[in-house]
Amino acid sequence: MKKIIKTILITTFCLFISFIGFYKFINSTKYQAAGTIINKVNTTQKIVALTFDDGPNEKTDEILNILDEKNIKATFYLIGEQIRLHPEEAKKIVAAGHDIGNHSYSHTRMVFKSPQFVAEEIEKTNSLIREASFSGEITFRPPYGKKFLSLPLFLAKNNIKTIMWTLDPLQSLQSTASAQEIAELVIKKAEPGSIVLIHPWYGDKNNSRDAIAKIIDGLQSNGYQIVTVKELLK
Ligand SMILES: [Zn+2]
Repeated sequence: MKKIIKTILITTFCLFISFIGFYKFINSTKYQAAGTIINKVNTTQKIVALTFDDGPNEKTDEILNILDEKNIKATFYLIGEQIRLHPEEAKKIVAAGHDIGNHSYSHTRMVFKSPQFVAEEIEKTNSLIREASFSGEITFRPPYGKKFLSLPLFLAKNNIKTIMWTLDPLQSLQSTASAQEIAELVIKKAEPGSIVLIHPWYGDKNNSRDAIAKIIDGLQSNGYQIVTVKELLK
């Protein structure tokens, strides 16, 4: 009997450790099963990329005005379905000279998905990005940062880079953090080559949107230049 209990305990422990390892792997910002993944660029130059996930939606003008006022180019990881709903907003982002990336079509967690599902999500969104007149290289950011096998294999086969992030202020702050708190954290933690993740699109993300100008001011006064992901990768 003792032996059975011991076996059950050891098996449970091993399963638990495997599950933690698996969870860490699918959420890693540094590793994936195949292809190129980047969460930071090795450089001594004081350059940082600001990346905006999700969207576009009716907040586009507000966000573009902030960037225009500060004369900054950012990188937008757009959702295909949102581009389909707001094609003019996507065009405005491209026309303003920002960098565009693919953030999937339906913003579904892309773990245990068929190769066909993955291909459709990425190809449909790339087509919509092209329809918005973007002509540069399209990199990919996985929804919720999650990836396992089919996604990295498709990206590797099609030579598409996975761009993760170095710094997501809302990972260490409460979702109710003020714009000032968000900006202070980014300004304090940013390093040469950092990629900053911001979610500026939704009603409950007002503070992130309001933090953009403060982040730009703070980084610039610390001597940082804000660049797009494309420029950072150079
Ligand atoms: Zn997202």
